[in-house]
Amino acid sequence: MKLIILDRDGVINYDSDQFIKSPEEWKPIPGSLEAIAKLNQWGWRVVVASNQSGVGRGLFGMDTLNAINEKMVKSLAQVGGRLDAIFFCPHAADSTCECRKPKPGLFLQIAARFNADLAGVPCVGDSLRDLQAGAAVGCQPYLVLTGKGLKTREDPALPDNALIYPDLASVVADLTA
Ligand SMILES: [Mg+2]
Ligand SMILES: [Zn+2]
Repeated sequence: MKLIILDRDGVINYDSDQFIKSPEEWKPIPGSLEAIAKLNQWGWRVVVASNQSGVGRGLFGMDTLNAINEKMVKSLAQVGGRLDAIFFCPHAADSTCECRKPKPGLFLQIAARFNADLAGVPCVGDSLRDLQAGAAVGCQPYLVLTGKGLKTREDPALPDNALIYPDLASVVADLTA
């Protein structure tokens, strides 16, 4: 099974320092939805793993998060794409939960759900914590320079084996070459 794990904000859609807290604020990065559809066509299972601490901070509720994700799913469907699952951590940044990236809890949930070995599985993120969470369970980290990626690229803690791409579309172009 070919499995790929994507961060959401800053990878699939534009990020915001004020959080994406309504469906209206969710706007896809050009080419990202088509890239996911291409992964589907090439036999990849595509799973999202996303920190959503806005829930834990009380900025928006689960109903709103579901509505935002529904907009993503519908937008994807319009270009023939789909996600196999969306995993998220709803806890606040100061939580001691096991699922907020850089902890690998979401990735372990994904491994269990898909009965998958995560060794070498591509994980695509724009923040250091995305790549750290993936690297902790043996994923191959891909840094994209959308979202917070330009800043992340300068971080000395960037995993040594991180591959750097302009955006999700260029990652997918390579994976489907
Ligand atoms: Mg992000
Ligand atoms: Zn959590």
